[in-house]
Amino acid sequence: MAILDIKKAGDPILKEKCTPVEFVDKKLKRLLDNMAETMYKAEGVGLAAPQVGETIRAVVIDVGDDHGLIELINPVITEREGEMDGTEGCLSVPDIFGEVKRSAKVTVEYTNRNGKRRKLTAEGLLSRCIQHETDHLEGKLFIDIAESLHKGGQE
Ligand SMILES: [Zn+2]
Repeated sequence: MAILDIKKAGDPILKEKCTPVEFVDKKLKRLLDNMAETMYKAEGVGLAAPQVGETIRAVVIDVGDDHGLIELINPVITEREGEMDGTEGCLSVPDIFGEVKRSAKVTVEYTNRNGKRRKLTAEGLLSRCIQHETDHLEGKLFIDIAESLHKGGQE
């Protein structure tokens, strides 16, 4: 496995709409492995493929709950419920945090690394993370939709 370079805000690749994954092949599995390793090393809870320079629809997430590592290929949010406020950060936007309104509960349909279509319903941090990461696939960063931004450290 390898640690990948994380693209930072200002890099035009982060503004691109990503293309669907056609085949779950060795190359994609290797990318997912490297993305997970990169996310853990950077102490993030999620990482989307465009953040490491690949404009394809794939993300990895681990919010430290019972789900462990989640790999979402071609994720589509099919249901949304409620609303929640919360603070977000992003490995591509170091030291900046923002208040972002998100759906409280989402259901996401995705392909797993075995090529099977699956469905996951999430609340709380995992729900927030799924929305943040799928936004990356549309070329959208949380700083574009945050109601307010502040520098890192304690408020
Ligand atoms: Zn992000």
